[in-house]
Amino acid sequence: MSLLPDRAQRAAGALVGSAVGDALGAPFEFGLAGDFSARFPGPGRGGEMCGGGGWDAGEATDDTQMAVHVADSLLAHAGLDLPDIFGRFQRWAAAEPKDIGLQTEDVLTNGLPWDLAAQVHFQVNTRAAGNGSLMRATTAALYFALDGREATMDAARSIAALTHGDRAAWEGTAIFHELLRLTLEGADPLDRLPQTLALVHPDHRDRYALALAPYWHPDDATEFNGAVWPCLGSAVWALRATSTYEDAVRAAVDLGGDTDTVAAVTGALAGARYGLAAIPARWTAPLHVPLPGSARPGRTLRLADLVDLAHRLDAPRTARTG
Ligand SMILES: [Mg+2]
Repeated sequence: MSLLPDRAQRAAGALVGSAVGDALGAPFEFGLAGDFSARFPGPGRGGEMCGGGGWDAGEATDDTQMAVHVADSLLAHAGLDLPDIFGRFQRWAAAEPKDIGLQTEDVLTNGLPWDLAAQVHFQVNTRAAGNGSLMRATTAALYFALDGREATMDAARSIAALTHGDRAAWEGTAIFHELLRLTLEGADPLDRLPQTLALVHPDHRDRYALALAPYWHPDDATEFNGAVWPCLGSAVWALRATSTYEDAVRAAVDLGGDTDTVAAVTGALAGARYGLAAIPARWTAPLHVPLPGSARPGRTLRLADLVDLAHRLDAPRTARTG
């Protein structure tokens, strides 16, 4: 038996695990269930970080890019500065990333100020419960974990609301923050779902209780997994149904649909649970995160940069510097 990962291993595992899931799933986005396992039938064989669909092998997508922009803002301002995060998102969107969610793009380019753009989009479109706030949440979840359960869930809601006007997206992101906080502490987040659900807004509690229940399966989803409920539900299902990092993200990608995001969310939770060392080196070696909209043109993060970023986000508050 291997030793349990320590907190630093879990924090690095969360961020690297999310980025690896994103890059592993990207070539399979909008594919069918079973596409991944048809091509890569068993774990441990190699070649899975294959690229395709416009993505280089190991290239992370908008999920991880936006997460890094959130991290840069939190560290530069030593806390939550919502207009600054929104501005970074806008500069990223204007720098023509390879992929950007439809709703996110509209909110970031509709010309409205940071505190109105998502709200107005929701009023006009009435549907705004995509998984686009959940997919980028790992860095903020790392940063706010040390502030405790209610603080991290509230931070999740505030950052989600920058692009998503529907409270369903806020609550799903808040649940993810809390699940990651518990995992970093070495707890089993699945054992603590009742306590986590108790802090979800009452209007949204029942729907999340269903999607996170032990008997729920991704086949039970009533929406495409680009929506926040089945995305989070699928990640929790993948965590519950497997016992290694590799198997968890394989299961996530193999669901088809919004594979990069479902695997990014799964990879964060599984990376935190099993630790950085559990993530296959053949997946972390080609991993890279181009960062459109960065103050440093051409900036690309690799494994060592992501590990360093995770440790800075997870550092105790007194030691935090920009
Ligand atoms: Mg993506």
